[in-house]
Amino acid sequence: SSDDEGGEDYLFKIVIIGDSAVGKSNLLSRYARNEFNLHSKATIGVEFQTQSMEIDGREVRAQIWDTAGQERFRAVTSAYYRGAVGALIVYDISRRTTFDSVGRWLDELKTHCDTTVARMLVGNKCDLGNIRSVSVDEGKSLAEAEGLFFMETSALDSTNVKTAFEMVIREIYNNVS
Ligand code: GDP
Ligand code: MG
Repeated sequence: SSDDEGGEDYLFKIVIIGDSAVGKSNLLSRYARNEFNLHSKATIGVEFQTQSMEIDGREVRAQIWDTAGQERFRAVTSAYYRGAVGALIVYDISRRTTFDSVGRWLDELKTHCDTTVARMLVGNKCDLGNIRSVSVDEGKSLAEAEGLFFMETSALDSTNVKTAFEMVIREIYNNVS
């Protein structure tokens, strides 16, 4: 802690956004608790979970927020975004419409957050390659055009979940330290 070491500790707020059912809640539960739920309900009601990692010998805590289903009603509030320094914008690689919505989510992020917010585009459900409707190249191109990091993930089989969150946390740390 800062008392013992005389150094700073860090707490970063990160938000997860994207259309309903793309896997936002499961990405968070996979990262924070190593849990996956096949029938997760929109109303779990957990506002955020905190997960720590060590960077440069310091404890960096990420407070990661989940919409808890608000996005279904297009009612993600400004309180949700307030103070966020990182964001994961998630789509489902097997549902094209969720990729088409990414622009709208980026606009919403720009409305509510500082331009320095660390952003990662996440194509989730990469375990569903057999019914893929968005190619890896399309994801990459959009990310490049918008200046976002990009990663395909699977909350189901854990592919890249930790990596995606930790890349965002490291980028925030680099921005502030
Ligand atoms: P949210 O509405 O964006 O929070 O999405 P959820 O996390 O509630 O997930 C919606 C549905 O997709 C649930 O049935 C999950 O089990 C499923 N799901 C989430 N992530 C994955 C994944 O990586 N692969 C597969 N195959 N299904 C997933
Ligand atoms: Mg959810």
